[in-house]
Amino acid sequence: KTGCIVMCGIVGIASRENFSSRDLIAALKRLEYRGYDSFGFATNSGQMEKFVGEINENNINDVSSSTMISHCRWATHGGVTRENAHPHSDCSNQLAIVHNGIINNYIEMKNELISKGHRFRSQTDSEIIAHFFEEQLKTKDMNETAKEFFEIVEGEFAVLLTRRDDDKIYAFKRGSPLVLGLADGMNILASDIYAFSDKTNRAVFFNEEEFA
Ligand code: GLU
Repeated sequence: KTGCIVMCGIVGIASRENFSSRDLIAALKRLEYRGYDSFGFATNSGQMEKFVGEINENNINDVSSSTMISHCRWATHGGVTRENAHPHSDCSNQLAIVHNGIINNYIEMKNELISKGHRFRSQTDSEIIAHFFEEQLKTKDMNETAKEFFEIVEGEFAVLLTRRDDDKIYAFKRGSPLVLGLADGMNILASDIYAFSDKTNRAVFFNEEEFA
């Protein structure tokens, strides 16, 4: 048990219509009061951008997609660098994750994944999540993998995951805050209702150990 609350923020949007990465980052910016040192976003078609420094939606590329996740990081494991900023992807760039919190057993998990051939690009605890899903999804479906994720991973997390050419966002919650906003034609996952309070007042709060 860490007893530690890591701030930072995550926002993911799964929409019927394509939307702009600038709208996503504008929603992420509404969480900047939580503190951050770097930020980034990924689409479900494998595009990913990461930045160190201040969030400004006008300074990022205008990428269009129906499914995107984003994160502003408060570094706990690994320095403040572009590589360590989220999202993180697996070896084959088939999925991307963002994580708020701390994985306590990441060193054991990382060593095991390295022994299975996984290559890591960052110094974060969070990157193990991407490789864990890559490894498990080789032989299991998402529901089984989600169950194992809660069993094997120790620590606190709100995690969002996107997969290549899949219009869903998968969300996992233990300890760190996570709320689902039901807006017109889109569902929004975020650390705090402020991220989407300009779009909807319909919110569903995750319970502990919930997967969506
Ligand atoms: N522990 C993770 C990291 O250092 C996530 C920190 C956060 O919640 O922003 O990258």
